[in-house]
Amino acid sequence: MIPYGRQSINQDDIDAVVEVLKSDFLTQGPQVPRFEKAVADYCGVAHALAVNSATSALHIACMALGIGEGDIVWTSPISFVASSNCALYCGAQVDFVDIDQFTGNMSISALKAKLESARQSNSLPKVVIPVHLSGFSCPMAEISELASHYGFRIIEDASHAIGGQYKGHPVGRCEYSDITVFSFHPVKIITTAEGGMALTQSDELAEKMSLLRSHGITRDESRMDEPPHGPWYYQQQALGFNYRMTELQAALGVSQMSRLDSFVESRQRLANRYDELLVNLPLTLPPRHQDVYSALHLYVVRLKLCKISLTHRQVFEELRAAEIGVNLHYIPIPMQPYYRRLGFSMDSLPQAAAYYSEAISLPLYSDLSEFKQDKVVQVLSSILERK
Ligand SMILES: *Cc1c(COP(=O)(O)O)cnc(C)c1O
Repeated sequence: MIPYGRQSINQDDIDAVVEVLKSDFLTQGPQVPRFEKAVADYCGVAHALAVNSATSALHIACMALGIGEGDIVWTSPISFVASSNCALYCGAQVDFVDIDQFTGNMSISALKAKLESARQSNSLPKVVIPVHLSGFSCPMAEISELASHYGFRIIEDASHAIGGQYKGHPVGRCEYSDITVFSFHPVKIITTAEGGMALTQSDELAEKMSLLRSHGITRDESRMDEPPHGPWYYQQQALGFNYRMTELQAALGVSQMSRLDSFVESRQRLANRYDELLVNLPLTLPPRHQDVYSALHLYVVRLKLCKISLTHRQVFEELRAAEIGVNLHYIPIPMQPYYRRLGFSMDSLPQAAAYYSEAISLPLYSDLSEFKQDKVVQVLSSILERK
């Protein structure tokens, strides 16, 4: 099976992890700050906090922004469930903004309309979480303008987007958001096996998230409310978690960071190749925009169903039967049983519903060979060209 995504691990990565195993620290040593500095420098952001997953990063990001009971958080229905679960962890209410039919990202016109009606019913969101689907940045300047106008804060779910750019600057710079979150799951652009990061330009938000990732505990004397009882002393100041990243993971992350640009270049090269090879098939190909350099976590095509005789499911099953490990990103979150039980439906999300009936993620990862890519194209062509 040619998988839809896969990590790229070389000898340097292996050596970096083995080195940590032989060292004094398996956790809470020098590698985590090194990894954080590498990402912060790359993105041009003041603070980067490594955690054990992007899900954890989203959770502490919501908490740092004060999300709690009675608050409302909006995100995209076409995302991984973690994008909205983070709000529910905090006891907040969540809702979904329909997507743009060309990018699959949260639609700006749908967002505007929903904000206007929320203002009238006094139910504006406190935080909006745009998701850069497939690594293709949302129009952050426009979302940020709406944030100033309607008074909400922004967390970018950039789980797909490290190494990508928006208006010529790295995603993660937080120019148009309060916090940006990356994931380092093995299918993402770089990996630490499990892992994530929360980035921010704000000292205050960084301090809050840093406390929350480690039990709410501080050893910083200047932040204590009484003098230390002795050299052993620490204080728990908030109800935090153990969301720490290990040294093994961070060392892998540092090593992977040195190849981030080449990973994205490979993905770009392969995506351009797909674009050329698939152009004559009854498919809508991934979006392009002058403001966006996509990290291309995913290569999602949409079937032009009126031009083929097979159903979406048949095309998908035939690809899998031919050992092409296609996937579907994503089942709309409101369609999940847990969300349906909370009362969600697809009624006001027609573009997300259409996307779900047409989308297929083709294999794309930095080590994908052109030979294997040709096989994907050949199998897909033969399926779609059949009458
Ligand atoms: C992968 C992913 C997450 C969760 O990442 P983990 O590191 O696995 O917790 C969140 N949001 C999106 C959009 C993702 O793709």
